Amino acid sequence: MIKIDGELLEFISHAAKSTHPNEFAAFLREEKGIISEIVFSPFSIFGRNSSTISHFSLPIDASIVGTVHSHPSENGLPSREDLNFFSRYGKVHIIICYPYQRKNLFFYSRKGENLEYEVV
Ligand SMILES: [Zn+2]
Repeated sequence: MIKIDGELLEFISHAAKSTHPNEFAAFLREEKGIISEIVFSPFSIFGRNSSTISHFSLPIDASIVGTVHSHPSENGLPSREDLNFFSRYGKVHIIICYPYQRKNLFFYSRKGENLEYEVV
């Protein structure tokens, strides 16, 4: 079960709202088994219909466990590009879609399978 800090979820929701209608994207950092921080990459691509995160920007940091990005649409499913990216990097990938509430959060594995998560 993925564990994530509740305040971080609030922050992600806020970041997605303030970036709307553009995409927000960042990396997830885990500490002591709990995803508790996000890391912005200076090379992340922001923009409408952008292809989330460039593979050139992958940080070399073992505490980075995955990614989070927003969808300015009401579709929380990973795109083909998302799945391609997920398969190459990390173990947990969050998509938050419009209107960016708790129920608009989706957690995916490398293979694009839905993951259960627990807010701590
Ligand atoms: Zn996406």
